[in-house]
Amino acid sequence: MIIEPKIRNNICVNGHPLGCAAQVRTQINYVKARTTFESPRKVVVVGGSNGYGLAARIASTFSSGASTVGVAYERPGTRSKPGTAGWYNMESFKKAAEKEGHQAWNVNGDAFSEEIKSEVLEIIRENLGEVDFLVYSIAAPRRMDPETGELYSSVVKPIGKKFTSKTVDFLTGEVREVTADPATEEEIAHTVKVMGGEDWRLWIELLQKGGVLAHNFLTIAFSYIGPDYTKAIYREGTIGKAKEDLEENAEDISKLLEPYGGKAIVSVNKALVTRASAVIPAVPLYIALLYKVMKEKKIHEGCIQQMYRLYRDYLFASTPANVDDQGRIRMDDWEMRADVQREVAEAWQKVTTENLGEFADVDGFRQEFLRHHGFGMPGVDYTRDVEPDVF
Ligand code: NAD
Repeated sequence: MIIEPKIRNNICVNGHPLGCAAQVRTQINYVKARTTFESPRKVVVVGGSNGYGLAARIASTFSSGASTVGVAYERPGTRSKPGTAGWYNMESFKKAAEKEGHQAWNVNGDAFSEEIKSEVLEIIRENLGEVDFLVYSIAAPRRMDPETGELYSSVVKPIGKKFTSKTVDFLTGEVREVTADPATEEEIAHTVKVMGGEDWRLWIELLQKGGVLAHNFLTIAFSYIGPDYTKAIYREGTIGKAKEDLEENAEDISKLLEPYGGKAIVSVNKALVTRASAVIPAVPLYIALLYKVMKEKKIHEGCIQQMYRLYRDYLFASTPANVDDQGRIRMDDWEMRADVQREVAEAWQKVTTENLGEFADVDGFRQEFLRHHGFGMPGVDYTRDVEPDVF
């Protein structure tokens, strides 16, 4: 079958097996070309099939030879239908890791459920004995409460008043206005339930009760803050409330981990094109402007560069770089630099459909979006017939 990208409402619903394998290989090569360092060797990555989670799993395995358990919710390819990119990424990762002698287990299913948590616990018990690092990197549209069975959906909306802003359709290059209505109290609560820190805490509690937490166990989850013009839709909106909850949960988890000498950390990461960020109003335009400025200044990073720097300079450095006054790691340090933000703000005022190419790296945005799904990778022959159920 010839597989082409199938995109609906800026969501790409399929992936290309060979292209995904190639982009996983590119990330592996990035890490292998750099210095290795001591970091935890028994690692669980929740949300490990794409974006930041996949990059963290690659960094753990190929910088310090970690055994990893990756959890994600993806659709496998069948004989007649391609799977999601995350499915191909996870399977290609496992193949590449095992080929080089590293242990890797993939668990595909709902990480919010007790069944999947128990499956991971069993894998740890049977194969690793204990776990010393858990990366929590989920971006999910909905969550079923494991106790009540109630289904919660997350929304990206402002709080209190309407949000109107410029945005760009990164597929057509049209700069237009977008408006989002304010969230109801219920929508805010539901978004916190899905994207807040409760499930992260449940994962750690389960591992603790299961008796598999190693001494000095470490766990990390990812947050975002961003600039003033996305504040109303992001940090002060529903997702921002969920991120506040995630950060508060880090404190509770850290208390739980004190007897183990362990800690829960939040890293505020850079805004990047991923499946999750492409659907947030105004954010694609901000990212396209940001990419142009950061690439010109030669400080642009993708997921793997962010995760490698996070490990090397913060998490596993002999002298870790400083955290902010709330104890968070700031991987958005280059994004938020005054000169970067000033130039992006100036471009934001001037950008229109007609002058988009002058101010925004929308081609870079589109290319990265497609590559996340295995399309447009150099060296892959997309005219070749491929088996969608290759794994
Ligand atoms: P992504 O969409 O690339 O990956 C999300 C992962 O979550 C995938 O592996 C997916 O399979 C998994 N997932 C979703 N629902 C699941 C479920 N029910 N069970 C198991 N797995 C499930 O997302 P991303 O952009 O890498 O985001 C990861 C984290 O980083 C999020 O917390 C996000 O808020 C944060 N973050 C993202 C950005 C950004 O710009 N992309 C910036 C800062 C922080």
